[in-house]
Amino acid sequence: MTIPIDPSRCPRCGVPNACTMAAGRPDEPCWCAQVTIPEALIASLTEEARGTACLCAACVAAANVSTPVSDTVSDTVSDT
Ligand SMILES: [Zn+2]
Repeated sequence: MTIPIDPSRCPRCGVPNACTMAAGRPDEPCWCAQVTIPEALIASLTEEARGTACLCAACVAAANVSTPVSDTVSDTVSDT
């Protein structure tokens, strides 16, 4: 199944990532500039998602707690 990349949503869990860049306010400091994104988390993304969409704070925080990133995140995107 292919999910289209939405720059304003987390490519891992699909929630709004609250990225100021994606919201069209690149001059505002984004939360993502103040956290460390684990390389394993970035490596788990697809090529296209890496250059397009930001992760959300929850995924980054979770990855920082448990470094081996697995795909156990439940899919909360409703299938309409
Ligand atoms: Zn996320």
